[in-house]
Amino acid sequence: MDKVFSVIINGKKQDLGLGSKNQLQIEMGARIDGSKQAVPVGVIVGKELGTRLALTGGVHGDEFEGPAAVSRIWRNTDPKKLKGVLILIPAVNLYALQEAQRDTPVDGINLNRCFPGKKGGSWSQRLADAILNFLADNCDFVLDFHSAGMDLTIAPCAMLAPGLPGSDGARKLAMYTGHQYMWEQEFPGDISSALSRRSVPAVSTEVGGEGRAREEEVALNMTAAQRVMIALNMVEKPKGYTGACGCSPVAVQGSWITAGCDGLFRSTCRMKEDVKAGSLLGEIYDLWGNVAEEIRAPHDGIVFGIRTLGVARTGQWLVLLMQRKDS
Ligand SMILES: [Zn+2]
Repeated sequence: MDKVFSVIINGKKQDLGLGSKNQLQIEMGARIDGSKQAVPVGVIVGKELGTRLALTGGVHGDEFEGPAAVSRIWRNTDPKKLKGVLILIPAVNLYALQEAQRDTPVDGINLNRCFPGKKGGSWSQRLADAILNFLADNCDFVLDFHSAGMDLTIAPCAMLAPGLPGSDGARKLAMYTGHQYMWEQEFPGDISSALSRRSVPAVSTEVGGEGRAREEEVALNMTAAQRVMIALNMVEKPKGYTGACGCSPVAVQGSWITAGCDGLFRSTCRMKEDVKAGSLLGEIYDLWGNVAEEIRAPHDGIVFGIRTLGVARTGQWLVLLMQRKDS
């Protein structure tokens, strides 16, 4: 039986002992002063080898529930109570997280729209390429944590891209998270569809937003990770654990309703509310209180995300309306 886990990193194999916690770095070249840039990666090798699961956060730098959960999972995980390998990247887009920005500050690119990335491309393209190859080389499953960013809040759900080589595995992974809703839609260039295309089942989840990292929402991410690890036989079920793994979530599909003009914004709908086509969801009004645009539901659906920032520019997201896939 193998006594080490061989991780492939920076083009080399590195042997890590059983029952160990290791802080490694994906090297990303030098800064102007010659100092090294790198993405920090935690690798927890269990007491015996088995499933390799990665948990990632901070692909978008203005979403904090994921980095908070992943960092705490690093701190809380005892390798002697783990079977398999847990790979943790709390901040995929380190510079964006430091600046609390959705897009990468260095090149202004949305990292989650540029996978699989490009060797020799801009910073974000090189970062996407390095992260994707690292995860595809070393993982069996990837769970990637997102939120609705600074200006919005979103109902918890697991997202996966259908019709790709890793999609069936991703659907199981989404069920294991315990989220009640499964959003099946491909977002071109996102990390989980790029992984599923490479036959690595990957799911991104959405929890929280508003630039917060509320304890209950960080806990929801930690619970999702724990449910996945239990379902993959990586950890023992804690005493009294009643989490139903493999329950069937509701499949939904949706899109954001965007602002047709600039203005102040107020929502008149509630999260998870069932609304009919034509229902008033909110309004944009000008500085003199005149209603400039009524935001109405284009179809029946569930209110799944709401802009919480009181101002909007033309084209910005206001309300996310979901439809059940079978409806
Ligand atoms: Zn995100």
